[in-house]
Amino acid sequence: MPITRPAASETGDPLLLTPGPLTTSASVKQAMVHDWGSRDAGFIAINKMVLEKIVALAGAEGTHVTVPVQGSGTFAVEAMITSFVPKAGKLLVLINGAYGQRAKKIAEIAGRAVAVHETPEDRPPDLAQLDAMLAADTAITHVFAVHCETTSGILNPIAEVAVLVAKHGHSMSAFGALEIDARTVSYDALAASSNKCLEGVPGLGFVVCRKTALAECKGNATTLVLDLFDQAEAFARTGQYRFTPPIHVIVALGKAIEEHAAEGGVAGRGRRYRENAKVLIDGMRGMGFRTLLGERLQAPIIVTFHMPSDPRFVFQSFYDGLKERGYVIYPGKLTVADSFRMGCIGRLYPKDIKGALAAVREVLDEMRVSNGGPALAAE
Ligand SMILES: *Cc1c(COP(=O)(O)O)cnc(C)c1O
Repeated sequence: MPITRPAASETGDPLLLTPGPLTTSASVKQAMVHDWGSRDAGFIAINKMVLEKIVALAGAEGTHVTVPVQGSGTFAVEAMITSFVPKAGKLLVLINGAYGQRAKKIAEIAGRAVAVHETPEDRPPDLAQLDAMLAADTAITHVFAVHCETTSGILNPIAEVAVLVAKHGHSMSAFGALEIDARTVSYDALAASSNKCLEGVPGLGFVVCRKTALAECKGNATTLVLDLFDQAEAFARTGQYRFTPPIHVIVALGKAIEEHAAEGGVAGRGRRYRENAKVLIDGMRGMGFRTLLGERLQAPIIVTFHMPSDPRFVFQSFYDGLKERGYVIYPGKLTVADSFRMGCIGRLYPKDIKGALAAVREVLDEMRVSNGGPALAAE
């Protein structure tokens, strides 16, 4: 009989080793047990603080403004692409995973011209090729890149891409844990959401917009709700959202940002995630599992492991066994290899990762799998 541990989080829920929504602190959840009107002065002050703190975290005070978008991260990405790329513009999308593919689909649905630079999911964009594309295709007005492509966990070379590109927007899951400073990495727009490395609950996307670029976006949007220019203008005029805001989500995000600062900001949060990732990777390797990515390309956000080749390993049983022990992992989304993923973000500490590793060991023993390694591929 396995030792069934009590669920491991502060609230008794299973810990989420996923790329978001993720495990949040009890105090962030507790922040939501009130009601506020959308015109309530207390709420408006909290919202203003949240938007200002996000700009500060992006190193973009003075040059940029945070424009929030009700919804998940994709709503913010769609708002960014359709508000910034004019109807006659052309978007170059860098793709090495599902989130890059999604951006391409957004631009196509909105009727924007699209060019693509695609590399396999375990490879970053080819900068020389990108440079040549930008030189050859003068119709390209904007470039979209994903900072941490959650499909594999790869860290894309955003700073190097930015150097090649005059104007670009980009999206990421790493905001709040990995440095992306507007003073050193030039960007017009950066989209992210409440429920990733800021450790809030899902429901608010946001775009950090260069003020001078946003000023030129009037009339670009192809939808009413995702018009960043209009949303920003309403804020400047009234301090309020045009449509019902997710009040509880925003107040929880305010609390989460306070806790982010208490942990030492981007540097402190990044340090804990890097430690989580190291404990996870070392422990899994110790049981024979192999990571998709080498150290150089691996972001400390989510780790992709090759599926073990032992025929006694059944992913569904593995998943269920971990869930019973209080740990939720994530299936793979790759086209290049059969895989699964484990996240290192959210209210997780190295001790929680060690707990998850002990659970992995137990479940493997239960399946009588002695080694988590994949079939040896020719390398
Ligand atoms: C989370 C995430 C998004 C947004 O996804 P939603 O499901 O809409 O929150 C976009 N890009 C990346 C890389 C992400 O990790």
